[in-house]
Amino acid sequence: MRRNLAAGNWKMNGTAAALSELDKLATYLSPDDAETVICPPAHLLFSACEKMRGTGIAIGAQDCHSAASGAFTGDISAAMIAETGATYVILGHSERRDAHAETDSDVAQKVRAAWGASLTAILCIGESGVDREAGNALDIIQKQLAGSVPEGATGANLVIAYEPIWAIGTGKVPTLAQIVEAHDFIRAHLISRFGQTEGDAIRLLYGGSVKPDNAAEIFTAENVDGALVGGASLKADDFAPIIKALPQA
Ligand code: PEP
Repeated sequence: MRRNLAAGNWKMNGTAAALSELDKLATYLSPDDAETVICPPAHLLFSACEKMRGTGIAIGAQDCHSAASGAFTGDISAAMIAETGATYVILGHSERRDAHAETDSDVAQKVRAAWGASLTAILCIGESGVDREAGNALDIIQKQLAGSVPEGATGANLVIAYEPIWAIGTGKVPTLAQIVEAHDFIRAHLISRFGQTEGDAIRLLYGGSVKPDNAAEIFTAENVDGALVGGASLKADDFAPIIKALPQA
């Protein structure tokens, strides 16, 4: 049985004042709600972990370097993230694949580094609008899964977020049938590689313009175990109804 998960990606938004949104979110949630993780910018990780201790809300980072340490100005290692108290890290987000030219192989190395620091990786995959229009969405998903998911994936160390690039921050959402098709395809790939037990235990999130008014329909899909949410995770008043739209385990 997979526990539903709602993950909030704050991207490069939020100064220390934004931490009040975490306090507010904590007051809205109960232990019966879906597991919740917020991924704030790196400078807020430590304070966010301190603030959320004992609330059940987990904290995650938005990227890590694949090396443990070294001359990598501006980067942060998985162990450094873990030292803040964070337990998750988003990897392979399309904004990093695009703006930082991250390849599937780079992402796979980062996933291994995350596992080495006992972090759960939230690994993002998804096709561009051009690939969707050309009918290549499943081929792209297959290639990204094959190239960026390392051997050794389990339900405890990996979450996959299917995020069609054309749906991120655009207000465009795939049809439910398209979401179902992509998630069922990902599930089948994971089962064929990692076996029935682990392949079935890895949680699959949908991401891309999830809002309070479309979440419930998206969550009806059998292989959608939650959401990775950007814009609507910045305010507790928007994120809480999305979390509460997830069926309780
Ligand atoms: C994201 O960036 O991961 C995302 C899903 O953004 P949004 O919810 O704003 O589309």
